[in-house]
Amino acid sequence: MTVSLEDIRAAQMRITGKVTRTALQPSDDLSQRCGVPVYMKMEHHQPTGAFKLRGATNAVAMLGEDERRRGVVAASTGNHGRALAYAAGLEGIDATICMSQLVPHNKRDAIAKLGAQICIVGNSQDDAQTQAELLVAQQGMTMVPPFDDAGVIAGQGTIGLELIEDLPQLDTLLVQLSGGGLASGVAAAVKSLRPQVRVIGVSMARGAAMQASLTAGHPVQVREDETLADSLGGGIGLANRHTFAMCRDLLDGVILLSEEEIAAGIVHAYHEEREIVEGAGAVGIAALLADKVVPRGPVALILSGRNIDMDLHRRVICGEQLQ
Ligand SMILES: *Cc1c(COP(=O)(O)O)cnc(C)c1O
Repeated sequence: MTVSLEDIRAAQMRITGKVTRTALQPSDDLSQRCGVPVYMKMEHHQPTGAFKLRGATNAVAMLGEDERRRGVVAASTGNHGRALAYAAGLEGIDATICMSQLVPHNKRDAIAKLGAQICIVGNSQDDAQTQAELLVAQQGMTMVPPFDDAGVIAGQGTIGLELIEDLPQLDTLLVQLSGGGLASGVAAAVKSLRPQVRVIGVSMARGAAMQASLTAGHPVQVREDETLADSLGGGIGLANRHTFAMCRDLLDGVILLSEEEIAAGIVHAYHEEREIVEGAGAVGIAALLADKVVPRGPVALILSGRNIDMDLHRRVICGEQLQ
């Protein structure tokens, strides 16, 4: 195991007071529907709108003096980029976020507003990643990857500590699965404390890179498609160091969801729970609505993020979003 319970406890000490200790809220509707208590971990209420603030905050807190002076870098326009910009800003550390020219201006502005330097280069995510690596090599910046990093995984794992604190009798945990930083960290924490808990990964059927890799027995590349759960897109890296092995060893299964099922999760979150969540944030709810989990004891799921384009959200709620 590359990230231990001790690492996750140390992360919790580092990030306490810097990230929100989110509520674990019961869902009356889902509990009734499933016949067992269902709880939602409200990670979309983090200041940057997603749980990724935990991992980024821990990674930043682990930097040495010299590294802090030279700053951090990432190539992410999504929730990780926002989280790193925010976490570095709080500590007075320079953050540079590399992105391609194709990234829309509203996304650029959102990250710039959090105080990060924006570095626009090339026409693809790969170009942005190459530029980030160049800044590491030439200027000595520290790369903070979105998921395959021990500090990031330990930070995400603090959700697992809070879950067991708040719900010691937890039976089944549904956790979003993309690069696997969240699932690895949370499963490591939960299974160390309560080995009998079932931890099930949830992903979209379109381009589920970790699921394809687990099936193949090694990291593989999959075709990327547009999905409502855009925060779950992207590969796991063919040179994956941590998350593939951790997900392989710790997860009890993986559920895949269609675009219609994910949309139903967003709609349920809005109408029944009165929460605005992005597609990735809604997949735990969606898995229950789609009857893809056999409920046993208390179930917990994570509302992982809320950073959805509000016009898209409106179209999903109105049933106008045709996939
Ligand atoms: C990044 C992200 C995930 C997936 O996390 P991984 O660590 O990449 O598996 C899920 N939901 C949201 C909102 C995210 O931003």
